[in-house]
Order: sequence, then structure tokens, then C-alpha cells
Amino acid sequence: MKCSLCDRAAIVTQRASMRHLCQDHFVEDFQARVKDTLNRERMVGDNERIAVALSGGKDSSALLFVLAKILEERKDVEIFAVTIDEGIEGYREETVRSAKKLASDVGVEHAVVSFKDHFGLGLDEIIGGKKEAPCTYCGVFRKALLNMTAKEMGASKVATGHDLDDEAQTVLMNYLKGDIERLARLYPRKTQQGLVPRIKPLKEILEREVALYSMVNGLYSKMVDCPYAQLSLRGDVRNMLNELEVECPGTKASIIRGFKKLSEPLNRKYLQAELSRCISCGEPCIGETCKACQLLGRVRAGLNVQAQ
Ligand code: SF4
Ligand SMILES: [Zn+2]
Ligand SMILES: [Zn+2]
Repeated sequence: MKCSLCDRAAIVTQRASMRHLCQDHFVEDFQARVKDTLNRERMVGDNERIAVALSGGKDSSALLFVLAKILEERKDVEIFAVTIDEGIEGYREETVRSAKKLASDVGVEHAVVSFKDHFGLGLDEIIGGKKEAPCTYCGVFRKALLNMTAKEMGASKVATGHDLDDEAQTVLMNYLKGDIERLARLYPRKTQQGLVPRIKPLKEILEREVALYSMVNGLYSKMVDCPYAQLSLRGDVRNMLNELEVECPGTKASIIRGFKKLSEPLNRKYLQAELSRCISCGEPCIGETCKACQLLGRVRAGLNVQAQ
């Protein structure tokens, strides 16, 4: 198959538009789309210091690489990388190695912080062999630790590697759980004190294209999956959406398009709560104690939480 823009062989077909692209045109198109998202949504202002959440997997590696390229000319903007080591045996060792290599290749400051050092327990110990709700614990603790680290390192924004697949999965998961209030919080209207604002520059790009961008740029050595990934509702929703996207290209983008129309009335109905400070750790939260401290308390008391 030939590239739709030149005579070279295509390496990808963008099924929604039926456009075929060679490697050079794909890389160019990818970077232009990320730049467009950054500009359209005014994600990067003047004099920003951006913490890039770098797990060392394909999405976050692509994010760091593409941001370093796009923001190269912006002398008033600085980026650095933060890797959270959750303590998942056989998975994190490899991705932390990849993250260190990439941060050094790109030439940015890099901090690696672990659940074990901060909370006293790694994820494997928290789950304790029971394999219940690992993603719930992992997500809550990672978000909290990322926010704390970003603040300590003086970040004005946190950039995460969420792509279009992640966004569509999150919307659908909340519909499936009937959690409309949580859906309303997906697109917060205002920044909250103590919470470093988040940006998702890859949110309009399909996961397969993010993976391809990582691959053609040689950004990670081995493809390793988290051993807990298939235990979550997200894993099921992901498989279902991937099948639908093959049958009907553009489905993931349609989910987000529809959700954007809903988000305004949802935001009017569910007003963004004012955050207070956790009485235990001082992090922003709704109520007296933050979710991370609540979960940590339950782990210590030997209880489990419901899977998400
Ligand atoms: S799949 Fe779940 S447990 Fe594994 S890294 Fe992701 S959120 Fe954490
Ligand atoms: Zn081409
Ligand atoms: Zn707390």
C-alpha cells in the first residue's frame, strides 16, 4: 500500500479517514495533531514547568518524546519527568529502566518515587496475593503521589499520556457503572488549590497510533503488560471497544464527541466541590480524609475495597 501523500510505502492506515501514511508522514501528522490539541485547548501557557508522568510504557514515552520536540523552541517552558514505581514485580523493573534511559536521552530531569518509600508498602504487598481491586489501590495512590511530587518539584502542570482509547474507556466505564457524578468530574471547569492542573496532550490520538509512534522512534525496548491489567473492568471495556472500532472505525472518537456535548449540562448539574485538606496528609480532598489515606487505613486494618 502506498502513502496517500507521497510514493513511499505506507506503514499505517487511519481507518476513520481511510488515509494511508508512510513513516515520515505519519510522524509529521502525529506531531501536528498533538500540537493542535495543545494550542486549541491552551494546555501550555507562558513560563510553565511541566511534570511529565513517565511510566516507561509506550504512551508516556511517546508523550515525553513528542513534548520535548514540540516545546523545544519554547525557552520559557521546561519539562521534567516523574516515574512512579508502584512495586509490581516483573513489570515495573523493566519500565523504570526504559524511563531512565528515555529521560536521559531526551535530556530532562527525572525523579523516580515509589509507593514503598512513600506509603511504606508496594502494590504487591498491598494486594497481598488476593488480586482484588489492584487498579483501585494503584490509581488512587499513584494520583496522590504524582500530585505531591509535582508540587515538591515546582510543577505548574502535570502532563499524562492518556490517549483516545483511555478517554473513551473511562467515559464508557462510568456509564456502565451509572456513575454520572464521576463523569461530570472528568472535565473539571476550574483549577483547585493544592491540585496541580493536569493536561492530556495525546487524548485525541488512538492508542495504536501512539504505540506506532513509540515504536518508529525506538522509545522502549520491551512490551511488558502489567500482570493486574486483565483483572479490571477497564480490561473488558478495552477489549469491547477495540472490537467495535474494527467493526465501525471512529467509535472511540464518537464516544468522546458525544460526551463533550453532555459535559456542559453535567457540569451545571453537579457543581465542582470545593476541596479541603486531608487531616492526615494535607493533600486536597472532599471531606476530612483523602482517598489515599482512607485506603491505606483499610489496608492496614486488613480490609478490601470493591473493584473498579
Ligand atoms: S493495570 Fe492497574 S495495577 Fe497495573 S499499573 Fe495499571 S492501574 Fe496499576
Ligand atoms: Zn508519505
Ligand atoms: Zn491524606
